[in-house]
Amino acid sequence: MIEIIFHGTGGQGVVVAAKLLADAAAKGGYQAQSFAAYGGERRGGKVESFLRISEEAMLVHSKVYEPDYVIIINENLAQDSAIVSGAKDGAGILINSPRPPQSFPLPGNLKIHTINANLIAAENGVLLPSGLPVVNTTIMGAVAALVPAIGLEELADAIREGGIPSPEKNIKAAQEAYHKLKAQLSGTTTAEPEAEEAPEVVAERYPSYRSKMPPCEANCPAGEPIHTTTLMVQDGRFEEALENIRAENPFPGICGRVCFHPCEADCNRNEFDEGIAANAIERAAFDFALADKLNQPTLRDKSGKRVAIIGSGPAGMSCAYFLALLGHEITVFEASPVPGGIPRIGIPEYRLPGEVVDREINQIVELGIEIRTSTSVGKDIPFQDITSEYDACFIAVGAHGAMKLNIPGEDGPGVIPGLDLLKDIALGKEHSIGSRVLVIGGGNVAIDAARTARRIGAKEVQIICLESRETMPAYQEEVEEAEREGISILNQTMPVQIHRTGKQLNKIECLKVTGGSRDEKGWLQWPEKNEGTNFMIEADSVIIAIGSSVATPFLPDNVEMSGPLIKVDDLGRTSVPRVYAGGDATTVPGSVV
Ligand code: SF4
Repeated sequence: MIEIIFHGTGGQGVVVAAKLLADAAAKGGYQAQSFAAYGGERRGGKVESFLRISEEAMLVHSKVYEPDYVIIINENLAQDSAIVSGAKDGAGILINSPRPPQSFPLPGNLKIHTINANLIAAENGVLLPSGLPVVNTTIMGAVAALVPAIGLEELADAIREGGIPSPEKNIKAAQEAYHKLKAQLSGTTTAEPEAEEAPEVVAERYPSYRSKMPPCEANCPAGEPIHTTTLMVQDGRFEEALENIRAENPFPGICGRVCFHPCEADCNRNEFDEGIAANAIERAAFDFALADKLNQPTLRDKSGKRVAIIGSGPAGMSCAYFLALLGHEITVFEASPVPGGIPRIGIPEYRLPGEVVDREINQIVELGIEIRTSTSVGKDIPFQDITSEYDACFIAVGAHGAMKLNIPGEDGPGVIPGLDLLKDIALGKEHSIGSRVLVIGGGNVAIDAARTARRIGAKEVQIICLESRETMPAYQEEVEEAEREGISILNQTMPVQIHRTGKQLNKIECLKVTGGSRDEKGWLQWPEKNEGTNFMIEADSVIIAIGSSVATPFLPDNVEMSGPLIKVDDLGRTSVPRVYAGGDATTVPGSVV
């Protein structure tokens, strides 16, 4: 991948330059992105634009921070070495200047070139009505000489089709700059004239400005534009903030409540007092935006392509949302009677109200998406019918199965998988769990199940888990909430056997363990049993929440698996053409983002 930053000032055509060069690269068969960042003022203010070119599809959409090339159209900006901060070692620097490269105080590890684009543009009659030269197309020619992925012919076509006045004059100027820089690069000519012959640099200074990815945005798995959202919420522009988030993530209401907010961990403000509460800001955008003031997202023209999505959780519905925006016709197949996946039926109402999930699902459905609920692929419709009827398929079935303890007594009455309990309660089913409940597991489902058990009538709820308090995978704030509700937690404890009197479950035999830490990938290091420490816990029901499993019995054998998970590449492609997968059914870590 090649990354380029253009620096100029308002009116110099920096943004158009990046765009037409992206068009030229695309004409040459490359993938290309171009976009801009404006300074405080438009005309005369500092403007940056960015260009990425790659042979492969690109997953990164941020600004460019470590460019391979820096193109400086206003030579005054090159008087401050900060302009090339972040440039890769050996990066190519192109400055629009009549001066030689050594006139600029830039680091010696960079390859600096100059081209007198003002003169070339003026001599070719590429002028504003005021008589000033228009340099961007000339610079584009020089960039084509420097960057291998941009061809001169493709650039000429991009200029012709780009709606630029007098395109042939612009092309001629671009060609001249191309050949001049090529000659410089091959050593057949020197750089531009010496400083004495060139006009004086205008004594203007611009504030030193260094682009860096904010740590919150770098840490957000959904890639939300947190710093602009924060400013909008600060101004009370909630609708704008919500639309800003939805450009990247259609679920700010859900994430604003249950995301584990890794965005806040490395906030620069932590060094001063505490991190910006990005999670609460996201929630505020959703809660305070007025529905009738929201602009609906723009849908592209119909593509004529049909896509089937299996599963209506966050992964499936995010896919549905973005593909619908691109003009594709979407059908979602959902086995449950309600759409929304784990956020709708696996997270308790007190943490994530069903009404919030329904609102976010509905705003996606309003884009024209069909959701077929109570339709289980493999049972109600064969997978082969989906692959033959649709142009593509995205599998996002999530992890809804329950892992087992494999201890004696587990398969009798009184034992309930944690996720099943949460689903049943969300769907309005009744559960009689008695007054003493033991929950086994140290993750968020265990905490949710324990707190739900309290809410449906259990008087004594205890949690046991293998991990120490510090290494429990549940979010600490959820653990503390559970304790405030009177739920006790016994760490480093292993269940050994479930006992019954007749059919009535009455006690669980346990054992103390040592260890139970997690490695850097989050995998549990199996603890050592402390033999002889057996003891009994009395209970009427046991809820098992030690992890969830993926079930995809409908998949044909030619879909490659990695254990129980579907094997996908960085673009979500499975081993079968036109079949993609994402979310918990793949190796992506489990969370709503
Ligand atoms: S709370 Fe989660 S989804 Fe929201 S900005 Fe932070 S990391 Fe991203």
